[in-house]
Amino acid sequence: MSETTNIIENVDCCIVGGGPAGAMLALLLARRGIKVTLLEKQMDFDREFRGDTVHPSTMAILEQLGLVDKVLQLRHTTVSSITLPTPGGSTITLDIEQPLKRLKVKYPYIVMLPQVHFLEFLTSEAEKYPGFHLVMGARVEELIEQDGEVRGVCYRLHEREHDTMHELRAFLTVGADGRFSRVRQLAGFEPIKTSPPMDVLWFALPRKQGDPENAIGNIGNGHFIALLNRFEYWQVAYVIPKGGYQQLHAGGLEALHKSVATLVPLMADRVDALQEWKQVSLLSVESSRLPRWHRPGLLLIGDAAHVMSPVGGVGINYAIQDAVVAANILTTPLQAGKVSDHNLRKVQRQRELPTRAIQALQVQAQNQVVKRALQPGSGFLISRPLQVFFSLPFIRDIPVRLITLGLWRVHVTS
Ligand SMILES: Cc1cc2nc3c(=O)[nH]c(=O)nc-3n(C[C@H](O)[C@H](O)[C@H](O)COP(=O)(O)OP(=O)(O)OC[C@H]3O[C@@H](n4cnc5c(N)ncnc54)[C@H](O)[C@@H]3O)c2cc1C
Repeated sequence: MSETTNIIENVDCCIVGGGPAGAMLALLLARRGIKVTLLEKQMDFDREFRGDTVHPSTMAILEQLGLVDKVLQLRHTTVSSITLPTPGGSTITLDIEQPLKRLKVKYPYIVMLPQVHFLEFLTSEAEKYPGFHLVMGARVEELIEQDGEVRGVCYRLHEREHDTMHELRAFLTVGADGRFSRVRQLAGFEPIKTSPPMDVLWFALPRKQGDPENAIGNIGNGHFIALLNRFEYWQVAYVIPKGGYQQLHAGGLEALHKSVATLVPLMADRVDALQEWKQVSLLSVESSRLPRWHRPGLLLIGDAAHVMSPVGGVGINYAIQDAVVAANILTTPLQAGKVSDHNLRKVQRQRELPTRAIQALQVQAQNQVVKRALQPGSGFLISRPLQVFFSLPFIRDIPVRLITLGLWRVHVTS
């Protein structure tokens, strides 16, 4: 593999990572005339087992951008309620639609949209603006620093068996490179971590004619399962106690087949599609946040600044809200060619409290619901106090509101 060095380019803003945070920020800045380059290390957006849950908060942002109708033309399903089992063997339904309708939310449901299609859509919209440039296969390896400020990045571009090293210089560098952020590490930032009580196994099972369109979920015998409709297949999330993978593995695939078939009898005729452990991906669930999201010339957003627990499927949506707030605050300084520490601090100030609030709610849900559900022999989920909580009008709407809209609503400023 050959390597030439240092092709130098200059832009206003360099964004590392083409996930929901990076793609949305690039789109917002490009449509305001900012010269922005988005660097993505993968050659495409097709990542195995990623989140699909587009919440009303994101739909409202897309509507403001005039993009909601186009998004709804992409192949998707919707979720407007979630049903959970209770001690008596009956079920309790967590209604999403009615509380959101009471809040006059225009799209009062969760849109299940494969992330790959969403990212392709956002970047194809950004391509319409002359200032936008997307580089796929670009792995950021170093920060460029000058007089104590970050002034861009060095990245390795892989093209046809050939690597080239590039320098991209910018007034502002944004690390939107996800939970294992290289930019965060290069900046020397250490996140505060908490360890949720579960891990998640992801695998695919075939879909068959006549299968329901909506997501399927169940809890029982110390396990928790959710099946998401990926049209050609079911994307299965099988929740296990933290660190429980080795024990599960030792029990053999047949035990997993049996457990899945018991939880979702519809899958009994196809669980043996899972023939090897390498078809199963283990997601080590983590929750963390940075005490400081910025340094002179550098901002971190999305999972790079705060990894979210999967509870509530908020990760994509909080990443997108970070991007909107960053674009609102930083467009004018970027146009002037000078982004101050004060500007960057303002982004963190607006986003930190909502992030901490949802993480606190997730901890409660993990302790009150997930931990109980994962206890061996547990045949039920909802504790008595929680049942009372869910029977109280308006009070029960609070978690739905916090998860699907955030602590406060985020708008794109004109
Ligand atoms: C298995 C799984 C299931 C999930 N399910 C859901 C769900 O249902 N709903 C939900 O809301 N959230 C879900 N999440 C979380 C959600 O995917 C993240 O919160 C969200 O994608 C964060 O967006 P982001 O843009 O900050 O980071 P990411 O989506 O992680 O994007 C970061 C991007 O940066 C790129 N990158 C990394 N390093 C470099 C580098 N050095 N140079 C250049 N590019 C780089 C990566 O390739 C990636 O494309 C799930 C996560 C996982 C792992």
